[in-house]
Amino acid sequence: MPIRLLTPELVNQIAAGEVVERPASVVKELVENALDAGASRVTVELEGGGADLIRVSDDGSGIAPDELLLAVTAHATSKIASFDDLEAVASYGFRGEALASIGSVSHLRITSRRASDGHAHSIEVDGGMVNAARPAAGAPGTVIEVRTLFKNVPARRKFLRSQAAETGRVHDAIDAIALGAPGIGFKLSSDGRTILDVPPQDERTRCVQVLGAGLAPELLDLAFELEAPELHGPIRISGVVGTPAAAKASARNQWLLINGRPIEDRSLQHAVREAFRGLMDPSVHPVYALFVELDPRAVDMNVHPAKTEVRLRFPSLVHRAIRRAVAQALERRGIVVTERLPTIEHPEPTLPLPLGIGQRTIVHADGGIAWTPATGAATTAEAPSSSGSAHAAVASSAPVRFMQVDRSWLVVEEGDGLTVIDQHALHERVMFEDLKARIERSPLERQRLLMPELVDCGHGAIERIESLAPILDRLGLECTPSGSRTIAVHSMPSFLVERGIGAQEFLLSIASSDLRADDPRAAEAALSEVLDLMACKAAVKAGDRLSNSEIAALLARRATIDRPDRCPHGRPTAFRLSTAELERRFGRSVSSR
Ligand code: ADP
Ligand code: MG
Repeated sequence: MPIRLLTPELVNQIAAGEVVERPASVVKELVENALDAGASRVTVELEGGGADLIRVSDDGSGIAPDELLLAVTAHATSKIASFDDLEAVASYGFRGEALASIGSVSHLRITSRRASDGHAHSIEVDGGMVNAARPAAGAPGTVIEVRTLFKNVPARRKFLRSQAAETGRVHDAIDAIALGAPGIGFKLSSDGRTILDVPPQDERTRCVQVLGAGLAPELLDLAFELEAPELHGPIRISGVVGTPAAAKASARNQWLLINGRPIEDRSLQHAVREAFRGLMDPSVHPVYALFVELDPRAVDMNVHPAKTEVRLRFPSLVHRAIRRAVAQALERRGIVVTERLPTIEHPEPTLPLPLGIGQRTIVHADGGIAWTPATGAATTAEAPSSSGSAHAAVASSAPVRFMQVDRSWLVVEEGDGLTVIDQHALHERVMFEDLKARIERSPLERQRLLMPELVDCGHGAIERIESLAPILDRLGLECTPSGSRTIAVHSMPSFLVERGIGAQEFLLSIASSDLRADDPRAAEAALSEVLDLMACKAAVKAGDRLSNSEIAALLARRATIDRPDRCPHGRPTAFRLSTAELERRFGRSVSSR
């Protein structure tokens, strides 16, 4: 066949293949258009599960009569005008494809009237053929009717499921949008029977409505903010999450919206699950309606024609914000893993926490722990009192007693008194030492990216990153400039990849540093700094729940590094409360005991 241009009808039908999958996807597009038009009430009527008729009516702005033809033309939109608009798009739609696509695979009629018009106008498109607009009767707002969906695409029409199944999906699609627009009223009917009728509500009431009124007492409010230097403004998490008692056998009641848009994202769903780790039977699914709000420039909405997927610039930050938001809500309700002050005598053989590189087993299960409690190493200014020195005589085989407090601090009974450790600072220190020892032997293990990842570093930072390139290369990060402000990343240090840290996140933190490698001494310092940055990013954070064996492993490593009480920046990782200090605080002199 010779090469030729596709006809506009064919272009629209091909686009319809992506945007119009079934009645629910048509409803999603039409309801989103109604919201973009400023509607306060939206009514959806179905016949035959939407296969025969979908009618969406709104009380929004309406369409000017002379723009009706444009509305059904592909790539015609009133929502963006430039590429910059796309970066911060606030409307649901912006591709200008939905109506043209729907019109190419059905019989579409739009009836619309602006408040200022004396009457309505309507336009029809039948299987892609457009009939001119003409005057019609109708109230202010817009009514869109889609008849005989897929009339000219028999393969699609044949594969529609039962009327009940398609209606159920439409219901889900409306629920998803309704969660992000609680101030709007929604109505859904099927063959004249009302199945949904919600008035404008506040956010919590809408969440309860969608998740099920019966669950109300088990739905905890989410309210969390995460600030990060990489972002303009915080990541905000709101919405509700069900307690473990509200969990369901299916994952249907899990809603995630990013900047008001319903999104499907397995890794973010996983973040919620992680917060439930140890609290819930893994075979059931938590219920939630979770809203993430963040700078629109940190979200690329334009990766999927139906916009149900997004690309985040800082996925691991959003992941962490979600996990901590849910954990915090559960904790406020007192739902925590109950751990009595544990005694570790038989640690598990393998540890999920990557304390070293390529060596995950630090504590061996050969009947004991392979380290001696660091009685002296952590003792700082406190000189042991005469009575204290008796307590300090801890046999090296004695079990170590510890607990994690607020998922941030480790409290360890050791020597003469107790030590409070900042888990992040210690883990960062341990990783830093590991990385340093490792890099002295050979370059770090790297993971090649299938496609180079392009990171926009801004004009200023390109030069800095280029000057650091040899150092970064030793660390497993290969990158080359690509254009005046973009860096192409070809490989990443494997251990960052394993910890879920993306090229973007890592490179941007280097870009925003003031590192230079102009001479050998500066280069040596820069290497240390970058190693530390890696350690800091990869280390467990405050708020991360650690298992007993992970804590035991971390404490074991603490005993093997020198000056474990300082993080690489020189900040303390731990402080001691000696028995003498405790005695002093409780006003018990040694002689009165
Ligand atoms: P997009 O939403 O991406 O702009 P659509 O094909 O869905 O593309 O719609 C094309 C245009 O038609 C919209 O940009 C808007 O101007 C107009 N439009 C569609 N539906 C409505 C509605 N319910 N009310 C007012 N205007 C509408
Ligand atoms: Mg649209």
